[in-house]
Amino acid sequence: MTVYNFSAGPSALPKSVLQEVQDEFLSYQKTGVSIVEMSHRSERFIAITEALEARLRRLMDISDDYAVLWLQGGATLQFSMIPMNLRTTGRFAYLDSGTWSKKAIADARHYGDVAVVGSSASSNYRELPDYEGDGETADYLHLTLNNTIEGTRYTMLPDTGIPLVADVSSNILAESIDVSRYGLLYAGAQKNIGPAGLSVVIIRRDLIVDRDLPSYLNYARHTDTVLNTPATFSMYVAERVLAWVERTGGVAEMERRNREKSARLYAYLDGSTLFRSLVTGDIRSLTNIPFTTGRDETDRAFQQFAEERGLIELGGHRSVGGLRASLYNAMPLEGVVRLVEVMQAFEQEGYDVSHQNI
Ligand code: PMP
Repeated sequence: MTVYNFSAGPSALPKSVLQEVQDEFLSYQKTGVSIVEMSHRSERFIAITEALEARLRRLMDISDDYAVLWLQGGATLQFSMIPMNLRTTGRFAYLDSGTWSKKAIADARHYGDVAVVGSSASSNYRELPDYEGDGETADYLHLTLNNTIEGTRYTMLPDTGIPLVADVSSNILAESIDVSRYGLLYAGAQKNIGPAGLSVVIIRRDLIVDRDLPSYLNYARHTDTVLNTPATFSMYVAERVLAWVERTGGVAEMERRNREKSARLYAYLDGSTLFRSLVTGDIRSLTNIPFTTGRDETDRAFQQFAEERGLIELGGHRSVGGLRASLYNAMPLEGVVRLVEVMQAFEQEGYDVSHQNI
């Protein structure tokens, strides 16, 4: 039975990349040593980091005005590093569009005054907040471009004169992003880039100021130098994943595929009498699709029904419940076709079974 993994992260990686990694795990490029045994300062490993950065720059069209940093601590550490490093006035503006924005806001409060300049909490984050322009004296305006848990995405950016900072953890490389519109972009790697343990920060160089901060937490200490031992295995796999994205047609092709996959699932959800999507309109995410039957017991019964058929990790985030399908780059269209088939089958047979059981 083919297994399709709909996890929100760590999530499915391209099978061909996993195969490549397996093939050369014991002896990287016939050197007799594994990639995980190699110094991060060896010529071979430096070649990997250079290729990784070059690929990301090509794929996202990142100019030399920006530095690319490969860090650890996930996207979560950036919730703190951003306010620490971008602090000039000590005022930070945030749009509150979901669970991850809320966490970013809570962490930023340790380093200055946070103005929440728009919030969609009252709609349970089914909508996106409007920006009314009252954050213009802040050091930056932060937004979560794709809300992984709530399944919404920005298609229009707020009109602002201050640097835009965006969390792109769940949509980097899944849809095109115009880097030149941002001061800083950041993402945890474990969805569209590679294994967990790695995060990427793309920062406009003029925003990097050498601050009086502990070395690891200071962006300036990571530019043009390798400060400490990075997540070598994750970087190696990430380089292979980015090679796959380039071979497959780049971000434009990823976006085309993600649009096709998500459109299939939304079309089904919109026509279903049992399941429904929680988000409507053009703010629907291309990568994270929450849905529900409206009853916890039936949601759980469907999750089990799907698992028995090889469709795994369809549970919603523990904070919101329900169901969610994450359709990142490595999820093939066949996975979504199969999911729709299984949902249809559940509507016909499993739903009755779950009702009899209640
Ligand atoms: N931001 C977003 C949008 C996310 O989806 C996640 C994790 N799923 C995070 C931040 C937190 O990332 P990490 O676990 O890498 O710290």
